[in-house]
Order: sequence, then C-alpha cells, then structure tokens
Amino acid sequence: QDQYPEQQQFRQAVADVFQSIVPYVNATEKYQTCALLDQLLVPDRVIEFRVSWQDGAGDYHVNRGWRVQHNNALGAYKGGLRFHPAANLDTFKFLAFEQTFKNALTGLPMGGGKGGSDFDPKGKSDADVLRFCQAFMLKLNRFIGPEQDVPAGDIGVGSREIGYLFGAYKQISGVFNGVLTGKPPASGGSHIRKEATGYGCVYFLQAMLKQQDLSLKDQTFVVSGAGNVAIYTVEKLLQQQARVITMSDSSGTLLAKDGLTEAHLKVIKQTKEVERGSLTAVADEFAEIDFIKGKKPWSQTCDVAIPCATQNELELQDAKQLKSNGVQVIAEAANMPLTSEATEYLKEQGVLLGPSKAVNAGGVAVSGLERTQNALLQSWSSEKVDEQLKNIMQDIHQACVTHGKEEGRIDYIKGANIAAFVKLADAMLFQGIG
Ligand code: NDP
Repeated sequence: QDQYPEQQQFRQAVADVFQSIVPYVNATEKYQTCALLDQLLVPDRVIEFRVSWQDGAGDYHVNRGWRVQHNNALGAYKGGLRFHPAANLDTFKFLAFEQTFKNALTGLPMGGGKGGSDFDPKGKSDADVLRFCQAFMLKLNRFIGPEQDVPAGDIGVGSREIGYLFGAYKQISGVFNGVLTGKPPASGGSHIRKEATGYGCVYFLQAMLKQQDLSLKDQTFVVSGAGNVAIYTVEKLLQQQARVITMSDSSGTLLAKDGLTEAHLKVIKQTKEVERGSLTAVADEFAEIDFIKGKKPWSQTCDVAIPCATQNELELQDAKQLKSNGVQVIAEAANMPLTSEATEYLKEQGVLLGPSKAVNAGGVAVSGLERTQNALLQSWSSEKVDEQLKNIMQDIHQACVTHGKEEGRIDYIKGANIAAFVKLADAMLFQGIG
C-alpha cells in the first residue's frame, strides 16, 4: 500500500477490510500462508488505454479508459463500468477490490473487476455517447469475454450506454454472447436487473430490521441519490408502505415531509431516467415537495439513512447530525459512501451499519443470474429472478450474522468482510499461488 500514497480511496477500502480480517487471519492458522493478504492487495491486472473519438461537430477528444481485473479465484472478473469526469485509477482500484469481496458474498461464481473512463456523458447527445462507446469498446474488447471478464453498468453507464457498448462488441467480435450484463430483456438481459440493487438493498434492510424486531413500515427513511440504485430502493420501500422523505442529486435535495408517493416517484423516474434532468423540475410540479438547493439530505430527522449516490458522500459532520436526530440504522447502498471518520463515529455510537459489499450485492447477483440465463439460452420470469434475489440477500444477511455476531450486537462490517474473505481465501489456497 505504501507504494501508492496518492491512492486514497483504494487505501480507505483496504483499511476497512483489513481491520476486520487481519485479527481473523492471525487467529486462524490455515490462512497464515501463501501471503494471502499481500495477494489481495495487488490486482491481477490493471489495463489503461487511450480512447480517441470524434464528436458530431468534427472535434477530436482524448479520454482515458481503465479496467482493473482484481481477482478471479471464484470465477471470471465481474464488475461495472463507470463514466465520470472525476474517475481515475484510484477509483477503479478501490471499486475492483470491493467488488471481489462483494461477489464472493453472493455465493455465485464471479471474480471481481471494475473499470470505465473519465468521459462525462452528461449533456452529450445520444450520437456522441454512441461514438464514445464504440471507441471505448474498440480498446476494451480484447480484454473481456463471457469466461474472462464480464463488465456491467455503474455511475454514468445505464441501459443506453450498455446497449451501445454491447452493439459495438458484437460488431467487433462477430458474436452475440453474454459479454456484458445489464442488457434489456429483449437483448438477452435479465428481468429485474434494473431494479436489483435497490430491491436487494431493501431485502437486506428488511432482514437487518427483523433481527432487531423492527419492520420497514414503522420507520422514516432518508435516501440520497436519484439514479438507478436510489430510484429502485425507494420504489421497493414505497411498496412496503415505508415513509421516505428525501431523494437527492448533484443539484440538491428533494424533501417531502409527509413522505414520497408513487405519483412522485413516477415523475422522478421520468425526470432522471428519461429526460436526464435535475430534481428541481420535480419540486416545481408538486406543491407539497420542497427543494433544498446544493444540500445533502443528512440534516433531516429519520430512523434509517440510505446513501445511494457516491463514495464518501456522508462525512463526519453529517454522521453527527444524523445521530443527534435519532438515526438507528445506516444501509450503504452506494459503494463506500461513508468516510472512515463517519464510520468510526457511528460504530462508537452504536448505530447499526450495513456495509456496501453486502447491502448493494443484489445488482451483481442478478448480473450473475443474467450470465446463467445467457449461458443456458434461457429467459427467466421476473418472479423467478426476484425470488432468487430475495434468497441471495437473506443468505448474505445470514453470513454477516454468522461472522459478525458479538456480545449483544452484530457487527455487519466485520461479518461481511470475514464471510467474503473465507470464500476467497479457501479458493486461492486450493488453486495455489497466483
Ligand atoms: P447513477 O449514475 O444512476 O446515479 C447516481 C446518483 O447520485 C445521481 O442521482 C447523481 O446525481 C448522484 N450523484 C453522483 N455523484 C454525486 C455527488 N458527488 N454529489 C451528489 N450527488 C451525486 O448511479 P447508480 O445509482 O448506478 O450508482 C450509485 C452508487 O451505487 C455508486 O456508488 C455505484 O457504484 C453503486 N452501485 C450501483 C449498482 C448498480 O446496479 N447500479 C450496483 C452496486 C453499487 P445527478 O443525477 O445529478 O448526476
């Protein structure tokens, strides 16, 4: 780690995991061999490439692309692509490291990887996004494949981008196969993939609350983000009659004091998924909804907070405010949304923390089911996929309880880290070094 002092996010993710697993390794003889921890620190492969493309006006652009193939002890590399101007190698190393542990928790045969570009799809025409995706895939295609590395979406890579990337791969390779997941069902995708991360988050939360003799229905939720994860988290919460008072985006926070309704969510979906607009437009449509410009939602009073936007979005002062307003549970639906300081503080205060690698594993789990359907040339019904998603999230919850049980409480962070490590370490030891 000391070789890369500038990779702050990667260091943060490693520190979080190693805090749990180092004491466990020290107490378990069979894992004190083959430099297992050192092996996990270094990705199998880091690919960095130039993406040159020409926009509709004839101007040339140069972006950077990356794919970090972190570990394939459990199966082909699997993990999303992110297009965001702030993305860099540090971002992808942290995400790929986390992905390896998350995929291990699902119980499905998937290794961990992540990648993307510093390209910003915001404000670009469909035609320019298509040109970029084709140029990106021209460089990435030789490193991926259904048995090698299977990317999916993430921030800035939704179904439009997955469609363009899949189309480009098909043209370059001449084959139609399961090289990418997150495809719409009509192009070989799985039902429920779009909803999976959000729905899975709620299934996991349901299990966490049940463990405390609580139910979703009686809690007030504060949610950040208004992208794929946030929208389907809120959709499932509303189906369970929960009271959700906020969503947010990069322009500010939408506040519905009496709770968001399905009618509100319909307009939010149209604004964010179809028009790619700002949440201000939603507040303009409903008198009962306020918009707090430029603010995060963490100052609102709630029982449960669900950060669904991005890494390090919930800082120490936000954690303190949430705690003083009575928060009892935080479920990390985004990847690493809490700073280390916020995590430490909330742990000390006895707030129950559901870590990302467990809470948001539903997305990659259904991606795993999409791969199975592609390999079998089958398409399963929504009900069948949803049932499997529920079972997987309950199994992950149980694994966290098994490995995280402490006197009078459950440490879900420790439980998730150790449960994933055991799976990975056993496979790595079985396969020998490398
Ligand atoms: P989207 O791009 O669909 O949505 C991201 C949302 O977060 C948008 O509303 C965006 O606002 C907001 N946002 C992003 N960055 C910031 C910021 N710096 N400040 C305030 N708001 C911000 O992404 P997803 O919903 O797919 O992903 C969200 C998180 O969940 C990420 O951490 C991702 O890695 C993780 N995740 C996603 C999975 C999936 O299946 N999609 C699976 C597992 C994890 P705006 O609309 O204004 O840009």
